Amino acid sequence: MKTPQPFFPRTPTTFQGRFPNITTCEIRIEQDRYGNHSRDGKSTIDVYTEKRTLPAQVTCVNRQCNRGGLALEWYLDPIKKDEPYYYQGEFFCNGDEGTPAGRKKGDSCDNQFLVEVRANDPSSYKYQRDTEGL
Ligand SMILES: [Zn+2]
Repeated sequence: MKTPQPFFPRTPTTFQGRFPNITTCEIRIEQDRYGNHSRDGKSTIDVYTEKRTLPAQVTCVNRQCNRGGLALEWYLDPIKKDEPYYYQGEFFCNGDEGTPAGRKKGDSCDNQFLVEVRANDPSSYKYQRDTEGL
């Protein structure tokens, strides 16, 4: 079953600093879980723990993929200020393996993104082990 990614509502031009709803966050994006597109056969994992380093778009690791990637902004929008937030979901990439200009549409990209978002609740964070309290 293919789960489409949600519609991306607007362009991410002013992405940085746009999230007054987020005080702290921890975001983990795992893609290519079976290592189909990596050299070492391992999945690709990115963990973002600082708001200012968050990318608007997470690039798809499939080198043949065009028009793909994950629109991270969409997943951060529902967070409410000062409220603990947790979200997890898995999505297929929206890209395809056609030509870059899109004249020819190829097979759809088989890459999947596993998205974990935690925000405004440092006690729930799992991936920043070297920070305070440990
Ligand atoms: Zn892709």
